[in-house]
Amino acid sequence: MLPLKEKDKPIVQKLLSSGCCPRCVLRFCCVSVQAAYRKPPQDTLKELQAFISNTENGKSQEPAAESTEENSKSHDAAVSEPPEGPPNKKAKLEPVGTGAPSEEDCCAAAEDKLKDEESSVCVACLGILQELCDPTQAVKIAERVKAGEYEFDTLVLSVSLPAQLCVREHSCWLHMKKELREKSMAVDKDDVIQVKEAFKWIMQGQVAKELGGVAVVTRSLFEVSVEFTHPETDADCHFLATTCSDCFKPTKNKQSVFTRMAVVKALEKISDTVFLKHYACPPARPTSSCIPQDVQCLHMSIFIAGRYNKFSRALPQTPWVIDGERRMESSVEELIAAPVLSSFRSDGFNFSSSGREDVDVRTLGNGRPFAMELLNPHRSRLSKAEMKQLQETINKSSDKIRVRDLQIVSREAMSRMKEGEEDKTKSYTALVWTQKPIQREDIAFIDDIKDLTLDQKTPLRVLHRRALAVRQRVVHRMNTRFLDSHHFHLELKTQAGTYIKEFIHGDFGRTKPNMSVLLKTDTDILELDVESVDVDWPPSIPE
Ligand code: ZN
Repeated sequence: MLPLKEKDKPIVQKLLSSGCCPRCVLRFCCVSVQAAYRKPPQDTLKELQAFISNTENGKSQEPAAESTEENSKSHDAAVSEPPEGPPNKKAKLEPVGTGAPSEEDCCAAAEDKLKDEESSVCVACLGILQELCDPTQAVKIAERVKAGEYEFDTLVLSVSLPAQLCVREHSCWLHMKKELREKSMAVDKDDVIQVKEAFKWIMQGQVAKELGGVAVVTRSLFEVSVEFTHPETDADCHFLATTCSDCFKPTKNKQSVFTRMAVVKALEKISDTVFLKHYACPPARPTSSCIPQDVQCLHMSIFIAGRYNKFSRALPQTPWVIDGERRMESSVEELIAAPVLSSFRSDGFNFSSSGREDVDVRTLGNGRPFAMELLNPHRSRLSKAEMKQLQETINKSSDKIRVRDLQIVSREAMSRMKEGEEDKTKSYTALVWTQKPIQREDIAFIDDIKDLTLDQKTPLRVLHRRALAVRQRVVHRMNTRFLDSHHFHLELKTQAGTYIKEFIHGDFGRTKPNMSVLLKTDTDILELDVESVDVDWPPSIPE
């Protein structure tokens, strides 16, 4: 039994004769019982036909039903009767078209009509809830998903429909509203079931079954998108551009101004009278069904994090390209990314880290925290053992870098790496050259300097990409190790963001004070190593 009420009968009749498919009739009758949409449409059509003819033949039964209070089957119908007025008023509206046919004629006509309605493309859904919803379509969608070889527990099915469907929907709604008004019935347009929703109700279970029982849910990391177009009726929207021109602003990237959103907005604004002046009500019958486009699969990004060491003084952190030409053959991020991308079968990545070192600076100690966003990963889970294996693969692939603490993290956790970066400390070792010969005791005083505040003008070497500013940074502690009369090692613990090279050579007086001022001789930096980046993220993983 279809969950329809007596009051729906004239609407059902009107929509069927306008060329709506049985499932669209259910939608406009606000039927929200999902199972009703999953029935074969031919069966639903027969039920709808029987439902209408029951009104025509069996109206004498109604008063009887109303008087039998215990009759629970007709209870719904009985309750909804009174607002529609007395039965005799209703009776006048019922016979549609067909004078007074004999019983045989009536059956033959119904048969023809039935065939016609089964084969024609629906004026409202343009075939989407007809053959584009059948089991062969579910198989096609599932095949495409299987071909992607994705790893997922659940999936969300998303549907993209041609914008003109909204125009047709509106036209059908107005057509039906006329009938409602005559019957003084109130139906909220928002209660009409959306094509998209009905499509999902019908298809989700079938697709899930084809994929071996995976859960199709409303929120998932894995999205399967189905798109339909219908070139034949693309022009349906065009009148809106003149009647509601302010809704259709040309955009740079979109191929057409008639986006679904713009069309919906225009339909909310347009008056019924203006709409009916420009567009057929009910909509014209189409000759063809919608065309399904390629099914798209997309897995949401996953994030991994770890720490890296860089042992080379000729390796940039990210690809170094000047005027379109590569300067170094590799980079830290590429060396890490290659094995990661193949492990997760990801389409691409975004790399970020807690600060960065210059191409000639090594990063030693526990390394620098980094995180990677993996785009559209086909594989989303690796066990701890597999992560460890991946880490080993990275480490074996090059002696220029080493990775530790490699792990999957959440998008939210990644912000821990960036937050409070200014307050963090970093430790360095620099090899310093002095112009004047020095002795061990000449540099000993440096070890006693604590929390030295520097004023650093934006270094000349980065001025081309950073705004000119003076920034204050603190050198918390220093420790010297005398090497020879012109060289010593300087260990520093500083506030993150301190320009170490500039502190040593002075940057033509742009950093004050600097090592040259402290030692009263020209100084330069020959080598620099990052010894530690004191960010307690990501959590360390015991080797
Ligand atoms: Zn339809």
